[in-house]
Amino acid sequence: MKNLSTKEYLDTFNKGAFQVSLINWFKSSQRTLPWRADKDPYKIWVSEIMLQQTQVDTVIPYFNNFIEQFPTPIALAEAEEQDVLKAWEGLGYYSRARNLQAAVREVKESYHGKVPEDKDQLSALKGIGPYTLGAIMSIAFEQAEPAVDGNVMRVLARILNINEDIAKPRTRKLFELIVREIIASHDPSSFNQGLMELGALVCRPKNPKCDHCPVQEYCQANTLAIQGMLPVKTKAKKQKKLSYYTFVIENNKGELLVEKRPDNGLLASLWQFPMIETKGVDMNMIPAFIEATFHTNVLTIKQLAPVRHVFSHLIWQMDVYAIKVDQLPQIAANQLMLISNQLSDYPFPVPHQRIINMLV
Ligand code: SF4
Repeated sequence: MKNLSTKEYLDTFNKGAFQVSLINWFKSSQRTLPWRADKDPYKIWVSEIMLQQTQVDTVIPYFNNFIEQFPTPIALAEAEEQDVLKAWEGLGYYSRARNLQAAVREVKESYHGKVPEDKDQLSALKGIGPYTLGAIMSIAFEQAEPAVDGNVMRVLARILNINEDIAKPRTRKLFELIVREIIASHDPSSFNQGLMELGALVCRPKNPKCDHCPVQEYCQANTLAIQGMLPVKTKAKKQKKLSYYTFVIENNKGELLVEKRPDNGLLASLWQFPMIETKGVDMNMIPAFIEATFHTNVLTIKQLAPVRHVFSHLIWQMDVYAIKVDQLPQIAANQLMLISNQLSDYPFPVPHQRIINMLV
C-alpha cells in the first residue's frame, strides 16, 4: 500500500470535532494518578521517565517513594547516586535514573533548580527525547508540542488508517507531524494526555473497546473492521542468550561476597554476586577457580534454583551456587563482604534480588 503525506492522511478528518470528543472524554474519564495532582514539571518529568517501558501500576509506588525522597530537582541533584539507584531498584533500565540525575544537576547549575520552559534548553538535558520533551512541554507548560509514544502511534494508526511500520524512526516523525496538525492549541495538555489515556484504557493493543470509544465515529479502522491489523510493526530482533555461573560466596563469619558493576554499560554501578560466563568453563573447574582467585579453601558447594532474566535485548540464564569457604583474605577493590541484612542497603538488579530472596 502506498504511503500518504500528512495532508492526505488528514484530508477528510474533522479535527475540531475530534478534539472536543477526545478532551471531553479525558476530562471525565481520566485516572487519578499521583503525577496528575499538580502540573509540577519535575514530577511530570520523573513520571514520564519511569513510565518508559514500565506499566502505570508498577510505577505508582516507585513514583511516590522517589518524590518523597527527592521532592525537588535540587534534592535529586544533591543525592548520592547509590541512593537514587536504590530508589530505582527493580524498575530496570537504570540508565534512566542516572540520566535523570545528570539532567537535574544541569538544571541546578544552569537554571537555579527550575525546570526550563524553553524547548531548546529542555531538549538539551540528558535523557529527554522527543516524547518526554512533548509530554513536559504540553502537560506542564501548555505548549502545543507532540508527545508520540507507541500508545499514541497505535491509536492514531487506527484512527487514520496509517499502515507504516511504527518500528521505524521516520514513522514516528510522520506521527509527530500529524499531531502538530491536529493538536488542540487551546488545551494541548488534555489533548496529549487524552491520546495516551485512550491508548491505555480503550484502544488497547488487543481487543480494543471500540463500542465504548469516545472517538469511534472518526476511526477508519473501526469503519473498515481492521483494528487487529493496525498498527503495523516489524518484530524486534531476538534477544541474545548469555549463560552465567553465579556464586554466593560465604566466608567463615557468615559474610557474603558482593561486587559493584562497572560505572558504564548494562546495570552500571549496581551490585551483584560474582558471575562468570559458563562458555567453555566446566562446573568441575569452579572450586579450583574460586580457591585460586580468592586464596581460600572451598568447604561446600550447593546448587540453588536457576534464575532466568529477560532484558529487552538479552536473556541471562544463571546457574546459581552457594559456596562456603573458610576465609576470604583477598577481595578486589569493587567487592565487599556483607552480612545478609546489609544487602538491602545496596541497589541490586532484579535477577540478583531474586537470589537474595532465595537466601532469606
Ligand atoms: S474505535 Fe476502536 S480502534 Fe478506533 S480508536 Fe477507538 S478503540 Fe481504537
